[in-house]
Amino acid sequence: MFKPLNILDENHKVLRKHSEEVKLPLSKEDKDTINQIITHLKYSQIEKLAEKYDLRPGMGLAFPQLGKLKRIIVIVHEYEEGKFKNYVIVNPKIISHSEEKIALETGEGCLSVNREVEGHVPRYARITITGYDPDGEKITIRAREDLSVAFQHEVDHLDGILFFDKIDKNKPFFTENDDVRLI
Ligand code: ZN
Repeated sequence: MFKPLNILDENHKVLRKHSEEVKLPLSKEDKDTINQIITHLKYSQIEKLAEKYDLRPGMGLAFPQLGKLKRIIVIVHEYEEGKFKNYVIVNPKIISHSEEKIALETGEGCLSVNREVEGHVPRYARITITGYDPDGEKITIRAREDLSVAFQHEVDHLDGILFFDKIDKNKPFFTENDDVRLI
């Protein structure tokens, strides 16, 4: 029986804390949590199920959003209509990135931020991220465009950073004169 996750709201101070590295392989409890996150994120992106369970659509979640200060991130990426790929990274590190920056034209959202926040969040267009899978195998992922944005957003959660921290209050929107490509 599916039960939606209890996701902390932006005002919760745990979201501003630094998460700890995790010992591998993961405990059964952490693996169970990961599976619950994957189901929640997938359902949230399938309109009928999102409606049925009253879920706000989201493609990523980090453990601190559930009140667990552990460096684990999960992304469920709809790479083609109705097709999803799951990414679980334990102790993720962005080891390199492009010079080029991008921003989501419509701005970012977060399952912990229950309001519209306007503004462009500058991100690297391409990144290489390393870490471990839940069984302790080393993984390396190269991501670009929206997937690259998602990884950077989730890694920020592990350091207590929320997406709107990165919006320039004096100039929240980029234009074609800026060095940031809107996607
Ligand atoms: Zn978020």
